[in-house]
Amino acid sequence: MSEHSLHSSLVELLGPAHVLTGTDAAGYLADQHGRLVGQARCVVRPASTEQVAGVVRLARRYGFPIVPQGGNTGLVGGATPDATGAAVVLSTRRLDRIRQVDAQDNTVIAEAGCTLAEVQAAAEQADRLFPLSLGSEGSCTIGGNLSTNAGGTQVLHYGNTRALALGLEVVTADGEVWNGLAGLRKDNTGYALKDLFIGAEGTLGIVTAATLKLFPRPSSQTTAFLSFGSIAAVVDFFERSRARLGPALTAFELISGPIYALVARHVPEIALPLPAAEDQWYALLEVSGFDDEEQDQVRLAALIEPAIESREVRDAVIADSPSKTRSLWRLRHEGLGLAQRRDGANIKHDIGLPVSRIAEFLASNARRLQAHTPGLRPMIFGHLGDGNLHYNLSHAPGQSLAELFAQEDALHGITYDSVHRHGGTISAEHGIGQIKRAILPDYKDAVAIKLMQKVKSALDPQGIFNPGKVL
Ligand SMILES: Cc1cc2nc3c(=O)[nH]c(=O)nc-3n(C[C@H](O)[C@H](O)[C@H](O)COP(=O)(O)OP(=O)(O)OC[C@H]3O[C@@H](n4cnc5c(N)ncnc54)[C@H](O)[C@@H]3O)c2cc1C
Repeated sequence: MSEHSLHSSLVELLGPAHVLTGTDAAGYLADQHGRLVGQARCVVRPASTEQVAGVVRLARRYGFPIVPQGGNTGLVGGATPDATGAAVVLSTRRLDRIRQVDAQDNTVIAEAGCTLAEVQAAAEQADRLFPLSLGSEGSCTIGGNLSTNAGGTQVLHYGNTRALALGLEVVTADGEVWNGLAGLRKDNTGYALKDLFIGAEGTLGIVTAATLKLFPRPSSQTTAFLSFGSIAAVVDFFERSRARLGPALTAFELISGPIYALVARHVPEIALPLPAAEDQWYALLEVSGFDDEEQDQVRLAALIEPAIESREVRDAVIADSPSKTRSLWRLRHEGLGLAQRRDGANIKHDIGLPVSRIAEFLASNARRLQAHTPGLRPMIFGHLGDGNLHYNLSHAPGQSLAELFAQEDALHGITYDSVHRHGGTISAEHGIGQIKRAILPDYKDAVAIKLMQKVKSALDPQGIFNPGKVL
């Protein structure tokens, strides 16, 4: 069949306004950082599950691949088509209805294109909490969060997206709709199908809706910001905080001295809670409770004061108002990103390690990197409580960005080999997408890869969904 009849079939299904080509499609063809730019036959914007199924049936008939795309905030190129122009990008943004909020069952059913912020707001309106929280929450979608099994800042207590999903609705490669939205807390009737689609990065099917868990809203949330003389001291303090605060400890975020100093230099609009020093480490702790803020502050002070006396903690600020808590989170969510962007591009790693081996990994990798490129500046932050570090490498003084990026593969190799030797993973929360696909077999168990390939060929034998991603 011709290109013309393919286009007319899509227009007939979706209407002309929702089959985009040329400049209308351009915004969907590049990734978040504009480093990956692909081509597509067109971008389609279905508004219902039935329309998504219709597009998949056309893909089977005409033989075109589909690249699912949500908010396009992914950091591994999973939502960007390749350069061949063979694919159709399917944007889920018009699947944007909150179908149901059930405060008694503590569930929300959201369509895939709802932004994370919209799902959080729907929960709040019912006096409930949907705890997933990411810096991109205003624009990432719940379908993208599920497909990347997103992490974020609340994993320590609530788990990652997988742990928050009770059920899915998915359009399969046959163009059928699997309705798995029942939302039961217990259902042992066979294979855990939803878990195959969660984290599959759009390679097995298109998630069109999900039943998600809601939680009671904590009546208080208090944060503290601390500085330490070494990473080992941060890790020790984290372990003690977890033991003392138990489930009340809902976040423990790490910020290294160099990236904190970068915020001081480049982001004057964000007030720093403590003075910046490159040789220190900083942590942002959050306690969520069912008391009031004052009680939380007392609990935090009881934990922190002895640590200051023993010099384990160098300095600390406990937020004494919700607005101070918001401003500490602004530093974490906005300040670090802005500082890096204003400093120039850097080489990114999203790695996961056993918490107990983080200090050893950091020391050994710093030595190897300095031996390779003297003066290279690691900019480290992340979700320490989950062992997840964003380990970014900024250019050495006097080194141009072109010179830095000429070393990209070598620097990735040094870092990923070291992560692997320390029992870690090359992708903690962003996924594999296209940018880590080639190296996945170097670090993942060969039998696991073989099983993943079998799952892919069982669920998508024609290779319709997101070819060239993950596997
Ligand atoms: C400032 C910033 C902060 C971030 N912070 C975090 C963080 O703390 N933790 C974290 O985990 N990530 C973070 N991210 C990365 C990103 O926001 C997440 O990966 C997010 O889950 C992607 O959602 P999205 O809707 O933008 O998906 P997209 O980027 O559109 O797609 C991501 C992948 O999912 C697939 N996909 C999307 N929707 C569907 C669907 N409905 N069905 C099937 N497949 C689909 C795509 O094909 C692609 O492979 C951050 C990104 C930015 C820019």
